[in-house]
Amino acid sequence: MGEIQALRGTRDILPEEVGYWQRVEAVAQEILARAAYREIRTPIFEQTALFERGIGEATDVVGKEMYTFLDRGDRSITLRPEGTAGVVRSLIEHGLQTQGGVQRLWYTGPMFRYERPQAGRQRQFHQLGVEVLGSADPRADAEVIAIATDILQSLGLKNLRLDLNSVGNLEDRQNYRQALVNYLTPYKDELDPDSQERLSRNPLRILDSKDKRTQEIAQNAPSILDYLGSYSRHHFEQVQQLLSDLGIKYQLNPRLVRGLDYYTHTAFEIQSDDLGAQATVCGGGRYDGLVAQLGGPDTPAIGWAIGLERLILLLQQLQELPLSKLDFYVVSRGDRAETQALALAQKLRHAGFSVELDLSGSGFKKQFARADRSGAVACLILGDEEAEGQTVKLKWMASKEQQAIAQADLLAMADELRRQLDSLKTSGTPNQVNA
Ligand code: ATP
Ligand code: MG
Repeated sequence: MGEIQALRGTRDILPEEVGYWQRVEAVAQEILARAAYREIRTPIFEQTALFERGIGEATDVVGKEMYTFLDRGDRSITLRPEGTAGVVRSLIEHGLQTQGGVQRLWYTGPMFRYERPQAGRQRQFHQLGVEVLGSADPRADAEVIAIATDILQSLGLKNLRLDLNSVGNLEDRQNYRQALVNYLTPYKDELDPDSQERLSRNPLRILDSKDKRTQEIAQNAPSILDYLGSYSRHHFEQVQQLLSDLGIKYQLNPRLVRGLDYYTHTAFEIQSDDLGAQATVCGGGRYDGLVAQLGGPDTPAIGWAIGLERLILLLQQLQELPLSKLDFYVVSRGDRAETQALALAQKLRHAGFSVELDLSGSGFKKQFARADRSGAVACLILGDEEAEGQTVKLKWMASKEQQAIAQADLLAMADELRRQLDSLKTSGTPNQVNA
């Protein structure tokens, strides 16, 4: 029997990479907290019907990409392919929207879609998303876009493009749909097979086909922006004005239609030129119809989701991430010394230092080599002699300077040590994540 490997389309996030994830989460949490968004955690699996109703059966996600199975009680269960449906289900179930006012929520976690895996496209991937429920105000649209921009910019990302569109309301879309079908029908035989099928089921989706010839044809299709009614047009103009006022650059893209049926009005994507084929880092838009469609009261809403794998690919191209440096590496040899070393390491940890204890039991030479590789700022050495006198040798790794000191004194001078360690950490060349 061969060794068992991770499933196709899934991957391990190893310790060397986790620092990037923690950084993204920390930056996002800080920005979201400052804007009064609260985290919500919903289950990873839900009834299949939730996604069928909330995403739409004609979409790729529901039609082809869901991980759906019967559980042992013969219930149809689906691993969530996205976050919005679960958040809205939870909101309705707990009556959050009846508390009145606006709910600003965010979530993060794994999502599952049965897709063809490639760079930036996996079967288990992660999203960070926000949902603002209970406001139809164009300022909500501008706020969520501004927050997405803030997160990406605070992480140091550049070369990002914001594409903006409006898909209007249902009535606008019905009018547009007819115009689009009229335009596309003469080209039917030239469209890719998926698009031919969509011509009757979901013609708007043809606009974001990845097929080259279909794209060429779509290039001259009528623009949805010419089919917006007066409310939709006014809303969209206000969103654009607010973004300009905030200094956020965007380009209009009338071919930008989100893949999910519940979107209304504003639709947007943030793309990067540095990602190859999977260029979209963040996608979102308004979904004023969804809460009612899932059985809740009429509630306007808007949200977005960032694909974290794609975001982290960009961060990795951009910068090596400084590892948080270890304060002490403790080496010891001999029964008494080894016992004291463990106790000393614990006391130092309780005093707030980061301490790695060598557990190998090998000779001092090998332990010193590991101390070097650990990236610790200082090494603590305990042999028989130190154990006897309850002392320890403190060795600064950069200068190789070394001093003997009573263990009790070391702990008594914690503040002074902290200052020395910190100044050495900032002046020394930071440890780099190795690729
Ligand atoms: P795409 O056109 O790339 O398939 P999508 O329209 O299906 O994207 P959304 O459902 O809007 O994507 O999800 C928001 C974001 O989540 C995407 O912009 C992308 O960054 C990320 N994402 C979506 N599917 C995957 C996947 N299979 N693997 C990795 N990231 C993904
Ligand atoms: Mg997709």
